[in-house]
Amino acid sequence: MSTPIERMALTAAVPDAFHVMAKPTGAICNLDCRYCFFLEKEQLYPGSHFRMRDDVLERYITQLIDGQRSDHVIVAWQGGEPTLMGLEFFRRAVALIERQRRPGMTIEHTIQTNGTLLDDAWCAFFAEHGMLVGISIDGPQELHDRYRVDKGGKPTFERVMRGLRMMQRHRVAFNVLTTVHRANGDAPLDVYRFLRDDVGTEWMQFIPIVERVDTPDGTTVSDRSVGAAQYGRFLTTIFDEWVRRDVGRVFVQTFEAAARRWMGMPSGMCIFEPTCGLAVALEHTGDVYSCDHFVEPAYRLGSIREQQLIELVASPQQRAFGAAKRDMLPGMCRSCEVRFACHGECPKNRFIATADGEPGLNYLCAGYRQFFNHIDRPMRLLIDQLRHGRPAQSVMALLAARDAEFARAVQHAGRNAPCPCGSGRKAKHCHGRA
Ligand code: SF4
Ligand code: SF4
Repeated sequence: MSTPIERMALTAAVPDAFHVMAKPTGAICNLDCRYCFFLEKEQLYPGSHFRMRDDVLERYITQLIDGQRSDHVIVAWQGGEPTLMGLEFFRRAVALIERQRRPGMTIEHTIQTNGTLLDDAWCAFFAEHGMLVGISIDGPQELHDRYRVDKGGKPTFERVMRGLRMMQRHRVAFNVLTTVHRANGDAPLDVYRFLRDDVGTEWMQFIPIVERVDTPDGTTVSDRSVGAAQYGRFLTTIFDEWVRRDVGRVFVQTFEAAARRWMGMPSGMCIFEPTCGLAVALEHTGDVYSCDHFVEPAYRLGSIREQQLIELVASPQQRAFGAAKRDMLPGMCRSCEVRFACHGECPKNRFIATADGEPGLNYLCAGYRQFFNHIDRPMRLLIDQLRHGRPAQSVMALLAARDAEFARAVQHAGRNAPCPCGSGRKAKHCHGRA
C-alpha cells in the first residue's frame, strides 16, 4: 500500500500516454530468423507454455485503458509470433477492449507478424477491426531468404508474399518492417524499389541489425550485422530517390521522423528522442520490462498481476531508465551538429568508444552522422515549402530544377576546372568523370 506522498509523486510522474508492446506468445515463433534477438528470451521462462492466459489478458486490457490519460489508445501485439495464439484469442481481446473503452476513446489495433500463418479468416478479422498489420520482409527473395528462414532452415519469402497478397485482397491496412543487415545493406535501391513497386506498400520502416558478440572488449558485432557506414549509405541512397520522386506518396519512418526534428517537433521514434522509457514490453506472464530491447531480469519492472501497469511505467526505475538515454550521452554527441535529430540513437547500440576513448558512443554513429548531414539541405528545402503553405511534394520539382542546373554547370566546367559541387577536386576527378 503506497503512502499519500508516494501517490502524489506517482500522479506527477504519470505520462499522458505510453506504449505497450504485448507479447502473448513471449519469444515463441514459428520461424528461426538468424538475427532475431528475441528467440533467446525463451530462456527467461523455463517450463512455460508461452501463452498469455485470459486472466492476464483481462488485467492487461483493463490496466492499459485505465492508465491512459489520452483518449487515443494503441493496442499493439508483437512477438515472437503473436498469430500463434490463434484468432480466438484476438477476438476475445477485441471484445474486452470494446467493453472497457471509455466513451469518446479511440482505439488503434496493431499487430506485428511474419505473415506466414495468415489466411482468409485472419485477414477478414484485420479488415473488420481496422487492425494495422506490420509485416516483416527484408527485400526481394534472395535478400529476404538470406536470414529469414523457418525452424527447418527453409526459406520463407513465398509464404510471406502469400500472406501479403491475401491482406491486399482483403484491403487490410499494412506497413512493412525491413531489417537492414550485412546481406541487404549494399542493395538499398533494390530493397526500396521492391517494397514500393512489387509489394506496393506506402509505409516502410527500416531497422538496423546490430548483434553484439561476446568478446572481452564488448565492441564486436556478428558478421550478419549491418556496418555503420553501410547503414548510412543505405539510408542516404534511399533518401535521394525518395526526396526526388516519392514525397507524399511513400512514407519512410526514419525520413518522417527526421522531417519532424527539422521542424522542431517530436520525432515520433523513441530512438531519436532525448529520453525514452514510454514504451514498455509486456511478457505473456504479465511481467513488464523497460523496453522491448531490454527484456532482461535487471530491467523487469514488475508484474501487472501484482501492480498497476501505470505504476510500473511511472516508477522511479523506469524514469531512471528513460533519463539515462540523455544522461549517459558521451561528450562527442553533446557537441554533435546533428544531435537535435539523432540524440545518440538507442542505448542498446551504444557500446563503442569515441576517438578520445570515452565509452558509450553508438555503434551506428558514423552512418547516422553521414545520413543526417546529407539530408540537411533537402530537408531545409522541404520544410521551407511547408512553412510557405506549399505541399511537401513541391520539393521534388525544386530539386529537379537544381539537379538540372547542376548538370549543366558540370557539363560546361572544363575538365581541369574545380568541380561545381564544391568538393575542391578537379571536375574530371569528381562529377565530371566520364
Ligand atoms: S531503449 Fe531504445 S528502443 Fe527502447 S525505448 Fe529507449 S530508445 Fe527506444
Ligand atoms: S551522429 Fe553520432 S555523435 Fe552525433 S548524436 Fe548521433 S551518435 Fe552522437
